[in-house]
Amino acid sequence: MSINIKYCLTCGHSLRGRVDKKFCDDNCRSIFNNKKYIHEKGCVKRVNHLLLKNRRILASYVDDAKETEMVPKALLYHRGFHFNYYTHTAISKEGTTYYCCYDHAYHLVSEQELQICKVAIMKDSTITIPGNEP
Ligand SMILES: [Zn+2]
Repeated sequence: MSINIKYCLTCGHSLRGRVDKKFCDDNCRSIFNNKKYIHEKGCVKRVNHLLLKNRRILASYVDDAKETEMVPKALLYHRGFHFNYYTHTAISKEGTTYYCCYDHAYHLVSEQELQICKVAIMKDSTITIPGNEP
């Protein structure tokens, strides 16, 4: 017969009682969950910061009067745009992939240039791209 001793995930003391027990008491459970929450919150905060920064950069090129703008890709790099961070993608009727940061998006026109636009996110989560309405 093997004895499987388990230890508290917070303080490391041996546990007695139920087989699925993970903590000595509510205090150790609370400390563990708070640490986990702070870590998760930190990760989410860092990514959200990058996404918001990307959105701000995209939004600086378009407004209600100017729906789309052609921009050199290098300029966005220079301004600190992170191309790996976007909230979702949308594909136009023509099959072009748009990389969205919330309500703004871009698509590659060539290797050096991209077109930025504001997109409308509908209640059913579909996206309307300027000049590409259904
Ligand atoms: Zn403990």
